[in-house]
Amino acid sequence: MNTIVMKFGGTSVAGTEKIRNIADIVIKEVKNNKIIVVLSAMAGETNKLQSFLDDFASQYSLESDLVLTSGEQVTIGLLSAQLKNKDIKSIPLLGWQIPIITDDNHEKAKILHIDNKRIEKFFEKNDVIVLAGFQGISLDGEITSLGRGGSDTTAVAIASSVGAERCDIYTDVDGVYTTDPNIDLNAKKIPKMSYEEMLEMASTGSKVLHTRSVELAMKNNLTLQVLSSLTKETGTFIVDEKELIEKEIVSGVSYSKNEAKVTISGILDKPGISAKIFSLMTENNINVDMIVQNISQDGISANITFTISQKDFDLTKSVIEQNRNSLNYKSLSLDKNVAKISVIGMGMMSQAGVAEKMFKTLAKNEINILAISTSEIKISVLIEEKHTNIAVKSLHEAYNL
Ligand code: ASP
Ligand code: MG
Repeated sequence: MNTIVMKFGGTSVAGTEKIRNIADIVIKEVKNNKIIVVLSAMAGETNKLQSFLDDFASQYSLESDLVLTSGEQVTIGLLSAQLKNKDIKSIPLLGWQIPIITDDNHEKAKILHIDNKRIEKFFEKNDVIVLAGFQGISLDGEITSLGRGGSDTTAVAIASSVGAERCDIYTDVDGVYTTDPNIDLNAKKIPKMSYEEMLEMASTGSKVLHTRSVELAMKNNLTLQVLSSLTKETGTFIVDEKELIEKEIVSGVSYSKNEAKVTISGILDKPGISAKIFSLMTENNINVDMIVQNISQDGISANITFTISQKDFDLTKSVIEQNRNSLNYKSLSLDKNVAKISVIGMGMMSQAGVAEKMFKTLAKNEINILAISTSEIKISVLIEEKHTNIAVKSLHEAYNL
């Protein structure tokens, strides 16, 4: 018998009606497969738990993870109860009961080991294991969480560990789209895409999958399918590049409004200054994305612009200000009203003119580019946030998506 992993996100388990619906989806697969269902908490639940935690000034990660991971305990219990109502042999399990062993980095723990033998044991008496996503246990026995959105990663990790036949990720959209359908009605579902493309999409703003889950699937060559728990349609398959017969030059346009731009002006144009700025960022765990440096005409001073995620806005500002003397800059400005627009596609690797088309399209719409960054299969530009919709729509059209 094959094992399949079915993961359901927060919107798919939000309420008893939806949980009944999921039970029906699971039951259809029971006959021919051993099934591991991985669940999120009900939509909004983990945010609510986080806001309780935010009420207490001094947080300890040990407690945070204990509280944060409690939403999943509810959904697995309810689904398992409903499966039993339907005469399915099922067992609900928390991460520690497998156990899913992680490191002790609370709120962003990495999975170290999953005990397959124990999973086999649970299957001796059950046809379905209903597993809480997003959580594990450290070697010291502390409950840990894998970071927000982490139940995708639980699903991929367990599917890889047991060598599952399939790993289906059920969500509230029926696949991965060429762009956000809320911005452009012409967005289309992508039938098949590579891990690399999905990774770029996830890291440039598409929220369909937890980035780490895609990295893990790629490492283990596990095919993922993203599909809806409400429709019966085939979703988007995320596969190895080799399985893509035709590589799209551009397969999608993504955007993120979650960026902030930092400009430090009037720094000395000499070796070591950038190193100093970015080691400050690293020391404070601030992730820097796009970087542009321009040297002034006098050749003495320079400006440096980079982007960070908005959550690090205040921290970045204070870290740089605190180091004003050693960095010796003239002025500092930070701006949240920016957005990053990215075009992504495997075919870009072997095709010229993709960047040119992007820049021309933006120019035609009088959108100014503030920063650029590229990878082999992605070009990102930073623009003023107010131009986001028009940029996305015009690029989507320009690349015939
Ligand atoms: N419930 C957790 C969250 O909201 C994990 C997940 O849903 O993937 O982040
Ligand atoms: Mg999610």
